[in-house]
Amino acid sequence: MKRLKDLIFFVTRRCNLRCRTCFYAGEIDRDPAEAELTLAEIDKVAAGLPRLDSLLVSGGEPFLREDLVEICAIFQRRCRIAAIHLPSNGLLSERVLAGSAEILRRLPGLRLTLSLPLDGLESVHDGIKGAAGSFRGTIATARALAPLRKKFPALRVYIITVAARENLADVLPLAEWIRRDLDVDGHGPSPLRGRPRDPGLRPPRADEWRELAAALLPYHRHWLERSGRSRLHNALAFHRVRYLYGLYARVLAGGGLPFACPAGERIAVLEPDGGVRLCELSPVVGNVRAAAYDLRAILRGPEAERELRARRSCSCTHACFLERGIRSSPGALARSLLGRREPLHG
Ligand code: SF4
Ligand code: SF4
Repeated sequence: MKRLKDLIFFVTRRCNLRCRTCFYAGEIDRDPAEAELTLAEIDKVAAGLPRLDSLLVSGGEPFLREDLVEICAIFQRRCRIAAIHLPSNGLLSERVLAGSAEILRRLPGLRLTLSLPLDGLESVHDGIKGAAGSFRGTIATARALAPLRKKFPALRVYIITVAARENLADVLPLAEWIRRDLDVDGHGPSPLRGRPRDPGLRPPRADEWRELAAALLPYHRHWLERSGRSRLHNALAFHRVRYLYGLYARVLAGGGLPFACPAGERIAVLEPDGGVRLCELSPVVGNVRAAAYDLRAILRGPEAERELRARRSCSCTHACFLERGIRSSPGALARSLLGRREPLHG
């Protein structure tokens, strides 16, 4: 088995929203009281993991977990994690602000990235989230985080947008509004994935995505130029985004990935109750509670092996898995760094 590099940990199934785009809806609607892993159990899981490059702390709404800071501390201590990515809907503003500040204070040396969702301008966003006022709530949190970003350069705040056919026309006006009016570190749209709560929502067609992606690239250049990083870093990062956007187009057109998906080998998913999946869209292949908290033993087990074989030619547009896949494939990495355009323009 290859060395595990990234873990996606869904720390809770509780959520204060019911977004129509949510691919995790089936889990969120399950019994919210179902026992979440305790801190002691999480510590046992982390103790059995190798050094990890990054942890994505997801949910549900992760800030609903009272012990979120402690969870981050466990993984930093046990797995020497240098970067934590926390997607939040941003509506629990006080918790997001206080929790982020505490993580940054208690865990120096850690890079913390918060992703907040905006799926369109106000009425479109609120319609997709199914909650009036959610646009205003999320941007209020993004704005309130600006002083914290100044105090802690290790904090980055990004806006993410799930692009479906329904909100496609809003994505560019939204990109422009964010560039002009929101003090954040960047904006990253990606196509709808998985089976959303609203089955009527569809991802963009490949040609629609290509057109949108080409128009979004200047915005990525804008955010990179503001990043304060070197010109070389920005040039390579721009190439990576362009390559990733090309991969999305390829997958939306029904094409396969040009590398083996790293799900279950380089990257895996831990559920709130200890279930383990190869990726967010694959079935549970075991539970750490029944495996002496040894997540890697589950990934080496027969169910995971079966699932891995079944998913050999699988493709999707999940950025975490695609980015890890690019980094794990010398050919794809070279093509992405060199700024190959074929996938987006082919
Ligand atoms: S997309 Fe996120 S915020 Fe929305 S319902 Fe799903 S878990 Fe909650
Ligand atoms: S391509 Fe990888 S991450 Fe995507 S659904 Fe298939 S196995 Fe999961």
